[in-house]
Amino acid sequence: MSGSGKFFVGGNWKCNGTKDSITKLVSDLNSAKLESDVGILQPLFFNPYVVVAPPFVYLDQVTSSLTDRIEVSAQNSWIGKGGAFTGEISVEQLKDIGCKWVILGHSERRHVIGEDDQFIGKKAAFALNEGLGVIACIGELLEEREAGKTFDVCFQQLKAFADVVPSWDNIVIAYEPVWAIGTGKVATPQQAQEVHVAVRDWLKKNVSEEVASKTRIIYGGSVNGSNCGELAKEEDIDGFLVGGASLKGPEFATIVNSVT
Ligand code: PGA
Repeated sequence: MSGSGKFFVGGNWKCNGTKDSITKLVSDLNSAKLESDVGILQPLFFNPYVVVAPPFVYLDQVTSSLTDRIEVSAQNSWIGKGGAFTGEISVEQLKDIGCKWVILGHSERRHVIGEDDQFIGKKAAFALNEGLGVIACIGELLEEREAGKTFDVCFQQLKAFADVVPSWDNIVIAYEPVWAIGTGKVATPQQAQEVHVAVRDWLKKNVSEEVASKTRIIYGGSVNGSNCGELAKEEDIDGFLVGGASLKGPEFATIVNSVT
């Protein structure tokens, strides 16, 4: 890894789980042996930072039952203050129940729900201003990759964040090629590394050298207990955003422990 924060692993539970299955998952996570437990024997730098993102209705259950070595993220947040916005959840409400992070710009929100770059950017700016950390997702569709537009797409999505965010202190960038999400078709370590380097370079040219060197750029898309080790070896992969494999406590712990 080269982003100067801790190796960062997020578990995105998406629209999965019931009260019972989530009770079991939390109990598995609470008893899992994580590298972060190594504590003073291990330099702090190697302690991974771990976050899970349950569906909204189970956030309270998870924040109150998960041990505090794992933080909790929402999967979305409203663009501004609460009020007459049927079906939305405000940043204030998320903070009220102990959420520290929010995932924004996930490809399922972009391509299934139809959120655009500007809307996502504004949500990120609001959440950051209110003190939430943001896992900012970017990534290209298969046809965009095949048309040689991977960098253009990622840079455009990055710019929409860069244009509005107040600071980069609480942002983790998740590069998630859409063709790799939930498909079992993981990017090769080289494919991921190539985009991570380009993203870091973009930050250097368009934001600052400091932000480029300290911002964590994590990879997402079909990460599992078997492929995480090879991916984690790449210099610019600073962690993972994990979907399907984060629903299995022991496998998620393996991914967390792939910190290099
Ligand atoms: P996946 O999802 O690991 O199931 O591919 C990743 C994500 O969407 O964040």
